[in-house]
Amino acid sequence: MSKELVVVSGKGGTGKTTLTTSLAYLMKDKIIVDADAEAANMYILMKPEVRHKELFKGNKTAEIDTDVCTKCDICRKLCRFDAISIDENGNYVVDDIKCDSCELCKIACPVNAIEMKDVYSGEWYESDTPYGIMVHPKLYPGAENSGNLVTMVKHKAHIISEEKGIPYILVDGSPGIGCPVISTISGADFVIIVTEPTPAGIHDLKRVKKLCDSFKVKTGVVINKFDLNEDKSKEIEKFAESEKIPLLGKIPFDKCVPKAIVNLQIPYEAAICGSIKKPIEEIYSKAMELL
Ligand code: SF4
Ligand code: SF4
Repeated sequence: MSKELVVVSGKGGTGKTTLTTSLAYLMKDKIIVDADAEAANMYILMKPEVRHKELFKGNKTAEIDTDVCTKCDICRKLCRFDAISIDENGNYVVDDIKCDSCELCKIACPVNAIEMKDVYSGEWYESDTPYGIMVHPKLYPGAENSGNLVTMVKHKAHIISEEKGIPYILVDGSPGIGCPVISTISGADFVIIVTEPTPAGIHDLKRVKKLCDSFKVKTGVVINKFDLNEDKSKEIEKFAESEKIPLLGKIPFDKCVPKAIVNLQIPYEAAICGSIKKPIEEIYSKAMELL
């Protein structure tokens, strides 16, 4: 069974993808998973060549057959989500975005005019990259179910790793503590929480740590841009010590990081980013020890 190393952060923009792509460069024998379904951007730096693509089914949505519908209005009155309305032609129609798939209207319709139809909410891909195989999702605009999509791409990564005997799975998780993060953390062997030295960073770190604890997953902390506020960095270190979370490392602020990303380079790989190489190597080796 392959081991799963996940990188998460309390919010976007803390350097999670910078670290994950750099780890993808350093780590051998792994499958890479972009589990940030709502803002999947790791692939930009990984330069994947898609070799397999599949549609992802989301929740079903009610669909009314206007030829059968007798316009009794039962369904519209029953729908708690206001998903059923009457269009300009006087027909009963369902708003896909508002429909919650509860099927109440289908059960209640006296003439069986309502069916539940499949809705595709995204796609997932298996790709080759210069850094190994990558499994990555794309959620359609406005689509929900990113948690299920994350579960699915992780599951696919495990199937590939079993088939090919690949020992590690490296996951770029979603920010925050919502449904996609829960799906990302579930089943992980070790979670790296990336934070930054701001009041929000500390607050978010505490929330993510609590979430990881509830899944009984081992965690480690990385402080990104630690030198922007040394006092807050110390506060994070103290918190990590009190909670017995290993501090994996601290990455200094360097304008080279956004420059490398703009040039579509992994920060660790970029020649201009010498300042972050050693800290990232240390983070990598500590994380692998604890995995
Ligand atoms: S319950 Fe059935 S028949 Fe009545 S308005 Fe809705 S779809 Fe039409
Ligand atoms: S399935 Fe439920 S949420 Fe969707 S339209 Fe019917 S009653 Fe409303």
